[in-house]
Amino acid sequence: AKKEGRNTYHYYDKKLEKASDDKFKLLQLLRPAFNGAQFKLYYQPMVNLSNGEITTVEALLRWPQPDGTMIGPDQFIPLAESSGLINELGRWVLQQACIGCAQQRRLGYTNLRVAVNLSVMQFKDGHLQDTVKSALRDAGLPPEALELELTESLLIDETEQIQKQLKALTAIGITIAIDDFGTGYSNLGYLRNFNATTLKIDRSFITSLCVAKHDESLVKAIISMAASLGLKTVAEGIEDEATLNKLVALGCDIGQGYYWSKPVPENVLSELLSNHQQL
Ligand code: C2E
Ligand code: CA
Ligand code: CA
Ligand code: CA
Repeated sequence: AKKEGRNTYHYYDKKLEKASDDKFKLLQLLRPAFNGAQFKLYYQPMVNLSNGEITTVEALLRWPQPDGTMIGPDQFIPLAESSGLINELGRWVLQQACIGCAQQRRLGYTNLRVAVNLSVMQFKDGHLQDTVKSALRDAGLPPEALELELTESLLIDETEQIQKQLKALTAIGITIAIDDFGTGYSNLGYLRNFNATTLKIDRSFITSLCVAKHDESLVKAIISMAASLGLKTVAEGIEDEATLNKLVALGCDIGQGYYWSKPVPENVLSELLSNHQQL
């Protein structure tokens, strides 16, 4: 039994070693990938549940590999954060997203908005306001067309510094959405300090909406509290009609998920929008 135990440890050690090895390799590939313009921005539509119109598209980062596979942001964003690349990468995302949205508006989808995910690190270098403003200016996109998505957990620490920057951004017309809502510890009243207009209910609650009764009451409570505070609600991760119908019945404002579309590259988004009812 002892011998077996030792072998087991050995096995786990190797696994751990390999995991951090892979991480290290990925980390080293990140900077050259950025310099070589290997990252791509995909877009996923958000749909107004009362009239079926696409109101906003969320910009989501992708890292395509030479073998045709794709490394997802959950794998490389934390590495970009720890290596300090996130500020440059985040600036590029803002620039591209503004250009992409402005392009769709010129093509005829005139009221389209774009949502961009921000990392907490982007608030720390003091340049966020300038970065956002010049991204808008360079793309010729009005501030009202930009929504910034911040995760609930991001807002827990460094609150004052972040609040100040968000206030300046919302003052020019940019809107704020709280992402992954329900997974953190904050309450809705607290979130009002961040000038948010929108709550995105975390996918985990939406996925289990039709199977777990307690998730239904939770989602119901979030939607009604949000409404009483004048906040819009977005349900992300809607994959089927039953879930959609339930959310409509609960009074959710906006939906996002594979039911309509996976995140797609810009040319596919163009097609999607041109086949879709105009705003
Ligand atoms: P998120 O902001 O919560 O984005 C939603 C994630 O759910 C996306 O994963 C999207 O592809 C996925 N999703 C959307 N609808 C469905 C559905 O119906 N079913 C399922 N199973 N999944 C769905 P993705 O693109 O892998 O992004 C993961 C996370 O990476 C994002 O979570 C966001 O936190 C982060 N991320 C992505 N792009 C950026 C970026 O440009 N900057 C920063 N800081 N973070 C980013
Ligand atoms: Ca998001
Ligand atoms: Ca989310
Ligand atoms: Ca998430």
